[in-house]
Amino acid sequence: MRAIIIGAGIAGLAAALRLSQIGWDSLIIERAPTRRSGGYGVTFGGIGYDAAERMGILPALLQRAFITEELVYHKPNGERRFSLSRESIAATMGPRSMNILRGDIESVLYERVRDTAEIRFGTTITAVDQDDRAVRVTLSDGGIEHADLLVGADGLHSTTRALVFGPEEDYLLDLEHMVAVYMLDQRPDAIAPGTTGTLSSRGRTVAVISVGDDRNVAFFGYRTKAGTGIRAGGPEKVLPQVYGDLGWVIPETLAGMARADSVYFDTISQVVAPTWSRGRVVLLGDAAWCVTLFAGYGSALAVSGADRLSTELERHGGDIGSALAAWETALRPEVDKKQKLGRRVKGVYAPANPLLLWLTQLPLRLAGLPPVRRYMTRRFIKG
Ligand SMILES: Cc1cc2nc3c(=O)[nH]c(=O)nc-3n(C[C@H](O)[C@H](O)[C@H](O)COP(=O)(O)OP(=O)(O)OC[C@H]3O[C@@H](n4cnc5c(N)ncnc54)[C@H](O)[C@@H]3O)c2cc1C
Repeated sequence: MRAIIIGAGIAGLAAALRLSQIGWDSLIIERAPTRRSGGYGVTFGGIGYDAAERMGILPALLQRAFITEELVYHKPNGERRFSLSRESIAATMGPRSMNILRGDIESVLYERVRDTAEIRFGTTITAVDQDDRAVRVTLSDGGIEHADLLVGADGLHSTTRALVFGPEEDYLLDLEHMVAVYMLDQRPDAIAPGTTGTLSSRGRTVAVISVGDDRNVAFFGYRTKAGTGIRAGGPEKVLPQVYGDLGWVIPETLAGMARADSVYFDTISQVVAPTWSRGRVVLLGDAAWCVTLFAGYGSALAVSGADRLSTELERHGGDIGSALAAWETALRPEVDKKQKLGRRVKGVYAPANPLLLWLTQLPLRLAGLPPVRRYMTRRFIKG
């Protein structure tokens, strides 16, 4: 059996790895000219952690995970508001969970699939058609490929989804925020090694995350009106406009953007699709169900989704339709739950009202108190 996978992100690479474990061949098509690296820090846990263990990549992921020694919340003038210790952060995350760079999850997967799957960089999909026996994919390099299954793992703005399911505007739900993330080549002096500094002020959040090995991530998230964020211009123009009045580490963090290899800048949008497959074409990861960073679970769903997809394909033999239906039925409740969480968090993320901000930070302040931390640790251990 053969799959064509569009996208070499976490979902696409995890699908290729898991498919190889059930004896399938994969061809991965990636639009970027080379592998992406770095990215941003994600919390990887839950069903993703379980799937990673089953797939045999957990030790490699744990090796690359980073530990935050202290998470410091600042006032807009840079003064410390409150902080969480390493132990309190661990208690809020639970035991089967880790902090890791998105790019490091991809690297671990890439190392495992590079010898078993063909990866074609700098290439994209331009057309799809299918019948009972196969799916036929036309590529931007002029190639035509046939397979038993086409996996659209090409992210939030999936071309596979647009070609097979319909235009993006039918599927994207704009959560009225923008996000910008990039790697900093220098850690601001005010951010101690291994710590995260963050502040929220009037609908804006910024964080600088020191992840060890002299790698640092700059994160910006702010409210916008639906549909206006991207139209306002690129990050070089917009971020100084939105954050320019704030002091602390923000001026030097903004200055670091000019030296970054790449800047991730996009709306925070969910993908809401009534079905994730059409015949021999299936969407996976953000392309199918992007839950957004508000839910903080997209990488876990991408790995678990890939794991369960192969499990169902193996269980149903050559019956692709039944496998995809069983897979979607099993996974959808988890996705729905996380999408609902993402929409709830949207309402309280970086609130403009200072009282609401204080209230939304209250659970974190409480988590820093030793008795609460002990309670949470016990609760996670009990499951
Ligand atoms: C700031 C931020 C913080 C986050 N925090 C967390 C967190 O704490 N926990 C968590 O679990 N998740 C988190 N997430 C979500 C998580 O990063 C994503 O859900 C996950 O990486 C999705 O992976 P993916 O492979 O589906 O999509 P993507 O990472 O978007 O990968 C898609 C791939 O397809 C390629 N591609 C795109 N279009 C084409 C095309 N036409 N042809 C060929 N290739 C194409 C892209 O270049 C890319 O390599 C966060 C996301 C953001 C933005």
